[in-house]
Amino acid sequence: MTNDTFTFETKLLHNSHKIDPVTGAVSVPIQHASTYHQFNIDSFGKYDYSRSLNPTREALEDVIAELEGGIKGFAFSSGMAAISTAFLLLSAGDHVVITEDVYGGTFRMVTEVLTRFGIEHTFVDMTNLEEVKLAIQDNTKAFYIETPSNPLLKVTDIQAISQLAKEIGALTYVDNTFLTPALQKPLQFGADIVLHSATKFLSGHSDVVAGLAVVKDEKLAKKLGFLQNSFGAVLGVQDAWLVLRGLKTLHVRLEQSQKSAIELAEFLQDHPLVQKVHYPHLACHPQHQLQQKQAAGPGAVLSFELKDEELLRTFVSNVKIPVFAVSLGAVESILSYPAKMSHAAMPEEEREKRGIRNSLLRFSVGLENVEDLKKDFSQAFEKIKGHSFAYKGA
Ligand SMILES: *Cc1c(COP(=O)(O)O)cnc(C)c1O
Repeated sequence: MTNDTFTFETKLLHNSHKIDPVTGAVSVPIQHASTYHQFNIDSFGKYDYSRSLNPTREALEDVIAELEGGIKGFAFSSGMAAISTAFLLLSAGDHVVITEDVYGGTFRMVTEVLTRFGIEHTFVDMTNLEEVKLAIQDNTKAFYIETPSNPLLKVTDIQAISQLAKEIGALTYVDNTFLTPALQKPLQFGADIVLHSATKFLSGHSDVVAGLAVVKDEKLAKKLGFLQNSFGAVLGVQDAWLVLRGLKTLHVRLEQSQKSAIELAEFLQDHPLVQKVHYPHLACHPQHQLQQKQAAGPGAVLSFELKDEELLRTFVSNVKIPVFAVSLGAVESILSYPAKMSHAAMPEEEREKRGIRNSLLRFSVGLENVEDLKKDFSQAFEKIKGHSFAYKGA
């Protein structure tokens, strides 16, 4: 039996960096050295300087490549560093077709930074293939997908978009932060570059900021490796180790959180104070079937709308268990307010157009007992009812 035949859960623990070949250590050693002695004036060793290559970072890069089914992984100092570096594959005059409800930081990068370097973009509803086709220009060199998207959990057909991209010789980028390779492997569906904010589910404990990229093509690997070294936004070794440790429990964490998320989505859907729940597991979700086709589950993030911002404020100030914070994908549940957090970089008009209203909350389900979460939500909803000025009946 080789590593290749192991299931995903087993691969998380038994991969190419299971044992340190020098000492037999069962945890990857943290190599702090920035530089490496060269024993021969004519031929340098594999490692020369840690921006270019470092054994601890390399271990993480190997492991994520194995898990995503790629040939090469790259670790960066944040998700945005991974995404920004991957965008540097483009040149002035190129055009990107990008999903309209993209992560706020990516929105900012594309609209306020790339534009200064002459890289154009068109935002589209990626779930609408006709709209995507209409956005294609002679200079379109990349398609940028986030699925499920943030915060509305819209699902994009990775295979269909990758196909379109191939027809015109463009690259397909997929931000796989929400599902991770435990639930979705975009390279299998034809994507060229998978991106991660490893700050989220991959590390999973709200204690590290990190980014990853994985590719499956040698030429692209060379180009991205060159950019990683040139731009230099590499992940530090302590942080690489934290991500490696978090990865070991990825499957159990995600599975447990997803189970609770399914229960909570159903609970919220039935609640009279909730207007709408966005979660691909629900049969009423517009891309419910597509999600089942390309992913092994709906993930552990959902969003829901209350009637208005006033009700939302009462709910948020009364709910006790979740931390109210930016970020997602952690052991503790995280309640976020996209309008003022992940999408604060997006002008209100753009946000409203995308359906990211002031009455929308995002919930990343952690490892608490789901009954406790439901009880907590119920008592916070009761407080809304208490506010007769705000509550005008279900
Ligand atoms: C958090 C996040 C990012 C950015 O990652 P950082 O690690 O915060 O730089 C990108 N995409 C998605 C979907 C995210 O949730």
